[in-house]
Amino acid sequence: MEDAAKECGLCAERCPVQAIDPTSFVTDPRKCISCMRCVKQCPETVRSVNGAMVSVAAFAIKKACSIRKENELFLS
Ligand code: SF4
Repeated sequence: MEDAAKECGLCAERCPVQAIDPTSFVTDPRKCISCMRCVKQCPETVRSVNGAMVSVAAFAIKKACSIRKENELFLS
């Protein structure tokens, strides 16, 4: 994915956890929190999400998100 980048640097600049190297644009999977901001921000749509992975994630959270829940505040 990084090979086709135009090297504008927006992904690295806007990553909230600095998971993207600003020179190589390679993502560190140990830092990445999968927020997808880099995908949303990329003007060239170089960064993308694997459709199969999105389907798996959607299936996994479907049950948890199918029932509306009231807001709760937890203080510890
Ligand atoms: S998904 Fe989020 S945390 Fe991961 S590299 Fe992209 S912007 Fe950074």
